[in-house]
Amino acid sequence: MQPQLAGFLPREHLQQLVELLQLHDYEVFGPQVRDGAIVYLNLQDVTQLPQGVNDHQAAGYYRLGNTPSVRYFDWANGPESLKPFLFAPREVIWQARRSSEGAIEFIPPEPVIQKRAVLGVRACDLAGLRLQDLHFLKSEFKDPWYEARRKGLFLISVNCARPADTCFCASTGDGPAAGMGFDLNLTELDDGFLIEVGSDEAEDLIATLRLKPASEEQLSAQYAQYKHAVEVQQRALPDIPLMNILQNNHDHPRWDDIAERCLACGNCTQVCPSCFCHSEGDVVTLDGEQSDHVREWDSCFTADHGYLAGFQVRPDTKSRYRQWMTHKLDSWHAQYGRSGCVGCGRCTTWCPAEIDFVKEARIVSGEDEV
Ligand code: SF4
Ligand code: SF4
Repeated sequence: MQPQLAGFLPREHLQQLVELLQLHDYEVFGPQVRDGAIVYLNLQDVTQLPQGVNDHQAAGYYRLGNTPSVRYFDWANGPESLKPFLFAPREVIWQARRSSEGAIEFIPPEPVIQKRAVLGVRACDLAGLRLQDLHFLKSEFKDPWYEARRKGLFLISVNCARPADTCFCASTGDGPAAGMGFDLNLTELDDGFLIEVGSDEAEDLIATLRLKPASEEQLSAQYAQYKHAVEVQQRALPDIPLMNILQNNHDHPRWDDIAERCLACGNCTQVCPSCFCHSEGDVVTLDGEQSDHVREWDSCFTADHGYLAGFQVRPDTKSRYRQWMTHKLDSWHAQYGRSGCVGCGRCTTWCPAEIDFVKEARIVSGEDEV
């Protein structure tokens, strides 16, 4: 359904929404502070949300701060996107067992649909999810584990009011407001939340919430908040479409410069909401009776990931970083019809070498001088 405004939920009634989801058998997840970062954890009560917490982000820098604000979502994003909810970092995708007669028995996968609701999703992460859907669900072979988790997912997004200095979702067209792909979308104001409905299920679910009609003043505040969140974003990918441009700049000297700094740790690919590379392997019991076939997240930056058909095709950090950025911003267009970057800025924030993805893309594409 086309998203539509449902009304206004006073701040003190947000808990009712959480309880409604629980009543409909959803396990609810929401942003919470753990170990100095905002991550998604099981949410029982809105008092667990990061009220009066903001974040400060720069290349290789992430710190939380406290403010007197009553708001729960006055921060940009944490290290986690929706990716781990659907594409598990590590999972057994099939097993093999040896029967008493010595025959090998393969145990097929049994994906389970779990009802999970995630509160506090950002627009960039909805966009990242759409990219993951394209990869895991829209090709000839669907991923049954991803599909099962996707079916059970209920998404409550929140429009960003306070982007971080690393954010550039306005330049990719993926934020800061969530335009689609949610069940419910909230705009947080000081006294409560404007709620948009994006699915029939959500419309039925919130029918029992006593929403008030949105006032003109609240709608103006919503627009002003959106405008501010666009205007404060100072970073942008090059204006030119990068399709074929990075591929044609394979010998740009900046790749060597990046490689001197890059640790090949793979942090950037782990936090990226659209990266989907993985490896597979078998874990066999010591007696040889059973084997688990395991799928794990992998990265352009690992040596094994570049080992294809008996050859190491990406022997050094330079070729691995170049592969990552060129796929993400260039060849992704041919593969999926758009860039693979949704402007969340995580790869820059969580890079221990302070490598700035936007800055490097602008230099390698010729948009900026070194
Ligand atoms: S760019 Fe940064 S985060 Fe990515 S592999 Fe290199 S050092 Fe690690
Ligand atoms: S490449 Fe970086 S900024 Fe773009 S979606 Fe991935 S983590 Fe976010």
